[in-house]
Amino acid sequence: MPRVFPGKTRPLCGRRRTGVNARLESTKVIVRQLPAPTPAFHWTHESWGVALRCRPLSAVTQHGFTTRQLALRGGMDVHPAEWASVAALVGVELDQLAGVRQVHGRAVRVLASGKIAAAVLERRPDADAIVSNERGLALVVQVADCVPILLADRFTGVVGAVHAGWRGTAAGIVGEAVTAMRGLGSKPANLVAALGPSIGPCCYEVGEELVTAFLQAGHARAQVDQWFSRVPRCSIVPAGRGGEMQGGEMSLRLDVAAANHDQLVAAGVSAENVHVAGLCTQTHRDVFDSYRADGQTAGRMAAVIRVPN
Ligand SMILES: [Zn+2]
Repeated sequence: MPRVFPGKTRPLCGRRRTGVNARLESTKVIVRQLPAPTPAFHWTHESWGVALRCRPLSAVTQHGFTTRQLALRGGMDVHPAEWASVAALVGVELDQLAGVRQVHGRAVRVLASGKIAAAVLERRPDADAIVSNERGLALVVQVADCVPILLADRFTGVVGAVHAGWRGTAAGIVGEAVTAMRGLGSKPANLVAALGPSIGPCCYEVGEELVTAFLQAGHARAQVDQWFSRVPRCSIVPAGRGGEMQGGEMSLRLDVAAANHDQLVAAGVSAENVHVAGLCTQTHRDVFDSYRADGQTAGRMAAVIRVPN
């Protein structure tokens, strides 16, 4: 069964059609109804469409999660206008946006405060998280089903952005990001975390080899059993071989957001400061980019956060 986070409503995404009534039009994507996120999150209207923001994180610094309406289909050099819109979400220029080349690993790019040259910001080293305390700098990761995680220290101004697919989650990327933030002077107890839209356990059917991969990565069996669930699958037998619904077969699901939530808490972040948007990218494919739904043609969404001034 999908996890229920203490103190938070986290309904099944299949039931989440009853959202805020909104009729929005952009030149490319029309969203007829916005799904309702968990109460810590809210929609904002931008020049290109809608973005999602987390209220407790907004109290610390500027940030945002883009949607399908901002079509990101290439790098900053190829599509500067779209990426400038990402930068504008947090009030910076394009050249103040620091990213990485995401490789589903556990490496963290650390940009410590100091004179960070433009050439340094143009680089995209292999990593799946970025942390920084350089004032005015913005950090960005891209996702389509994977979990985008934004982190901010309430007191020191250290922020982080994390891309966590199943591989990164098995490798403990979000815990690595918290460790890197500690290296810049953060205390985990002072961190606020926002987990944006990602593929939910309602849709994320996976193979048994993922359970093995998580166990081999060192996660405790009890935790792994919480992150993975088995739900009955009703399959239709082709005509001529019965032709009726058959139950009994089980489908393995991964709740990758729950795994990252739990890893943040294990790293010392207070559970009450970890906020999960609770929106499935595949269920709401009209709003979000989903690699599982759209395959190779899927666009990407950005999660961006700014080091406060
Ligand atoms: Zn779903």
